[in-house]
Amino acid sequence: MINKSFEPELRKINPEWKSNSRIFGEVIELWVSNNLKCKCGGAYDLYKANKKSVDAVCIECEKTLQIKSMSKPYKPNKNNVLRILAAEYTTTLNSIRNKQDWDLMLVHYSKEMLTIEEVHIIESKEINEDCVIPRKPLGPNARRAGWQGCYLDFNWDKVEKVII
Ligand SMILES: [Zn+2]
Repeated sequence: MINKSFEPELRKINPEWKSNSRIFGEVIELWVSNNLKCKCGGAYDLYKANKKSVDAVCIECEKTLQIKSMSKPYKPNKNNVLRILAAEYTTTLNSIRNKQDWDLMLVHYSKEMLTIEEVHIIESKEINEDCVIPRKPLGPNARRAGWQGCYLDFNWDKVEKVII
C-alpha cells in the first residue's frame, strides 16, 4: 500500500537541519524508497552518500533513479515541453554521455498537507544530449562566477504518470 502522507519520513529527519530544500529533498527520497517500486517489481535502495546524478538504485535490476521534487506541479509549457532546472551543465551532459542509465522521477508534494500529490517518471531511453539546454554562465561578480547550470527539456508525451 502506498501511503501518500510523508509524515513518517519527516519524523526521521535530523532535527538540526534548517534548510527546507535539504529537508524536503531527503524526505521525498525516503518516501520514494518506502512506497514506490521499480517497474520490474524491485525495491529502491537509496544511495547514502551524495552521488553526483543518481539518488537510488533498484535492488533487482540495478536501474538507477534520479529523484527531483518540488511543491508546485510539473507541467508542460504551451509547446508541450516540460522544462526542469538541472545541475551544472558539463556534469549533467557527461552523465548522459557516459550512458549512466538513470530514469528521472519527478515528485510534486504539498508542504502544507505533507502529502505526495503526483509522481511522474521519464525513462532513461528518453533522456539524451538534446534534452540538455545550457543556461548563461554566471557573471564575473557572482559568488560562483563562470558557473553554468542547465535545464532539461522533455516533450510532455514522454513523461509518464505514476499511479499512486
Ligand atoms: Zn528494477
